Amino acid sequence: MAKKLPPDKIVIRPPVEACSVLIPVTGGCSWNKCRFCGTYNGVYGVIQEYAVRDIKDVKKDIDYFAERNYHGHPVFLAGGNPTSTPTEYLVEIIKYVKEKLHNIPRLSCYAKALDILRKSDEELKQLADAGLDIVYMGLESGSSKILRIMKKGTNAESIIEAGKRVMRAGIDLSLYIILGLGGKKYSKEHVEGTARVLTEINPTIFRFRTLNILPNTPLWNDWKSGEFELLSPVENLREEKQIIEKLGDNVDSQVYNDHVSNYCGIETDNIKQDRDAFLLTLEEIINDPNIKNMPRRNLTRM
Ligand code: SF4
Repeated sequence: MAKKLPPDKIVIRPPVEACSVLIPVTGGCSWNKCRFCGTYNGVYGVIQEYAVRDIKDVKKDIDYFAERNYHGHPVFLAGGNPTSTPTEYLVEIIKYVKEKLHNIPRLSCYAKALDILRKSDEELKQLADAGLDIVYMGLESGSSKILRIMKKGTNAESIIEAGKRVMRAGIDLSLYIILGLGGKKYSKEHVEGTARVLTEINPTIFRFRTLNILPNTPLWNDWKSGEFELLSPVENLREEKQIIEKLGDNVDSQVYNDHVSNYCGIETDNIKQDRDAFLLTLEEIINDPNIKNMPRRNLTRM
């Protein structure tokens, strides 16, 4: 039985926030139903239930970093979804961070589309005005069918609405896409839906991850029973290439493959400008005999 972890302990953070000041705001995930996700359910040896931390404790953590002169670092408000908290609570925390820590190049947190949709435009503006620079949101797939199968709790249209509202409020948006999430069966839907949603939103950034099936997730059982078929490394790379090929001409997002699960590390500051080079590099990797013959690895810890 995995031990329970209090909400002041951080389970995960985006790779890009590895050197940031990490301040826990929520513990666990208020949704916690996605069939591919075991993050807070014992995959890392601990279970963390959804909880919102007492603001006094969050402020104590901020004081701790201020007393040690942690100025000039990015700040990540941690936990699965700090935007699930009341807006005034989050605004107070962001303002306190800004008051105590100086020259912060980026202040960010994870956000779930459902939480964003529960906030008014005025509330999102309050978060932006307080100093929230960017949110990291799991699109995972732009196919409503795949999102329904995976119990993501969102569909393509709700993510489009949430994403557009975040950006309209003046907050940058980084979306995650999980290559292979449709398995072999729904790969085409995954590509087409994802390219469509990215084209509709034109997010500041989108980032690829590759599906790895974690033990004690419902998807693990589907994989073991043969119901869900994982893509090979080359098939995952092809999905990425097809998504980029199908993007609308308006999309000028930054694109990253910045995760240990990926089979390539290609990135660009502007996919509109670099689309041809990006696709050419992907094609070269796809045709590399080493990649072609590479066995599928399934990472169970990331
Ligand atoms: S993928 Fe995100 S929203 Fe889904 S259960 Fe995991 S942490 Fe929660």
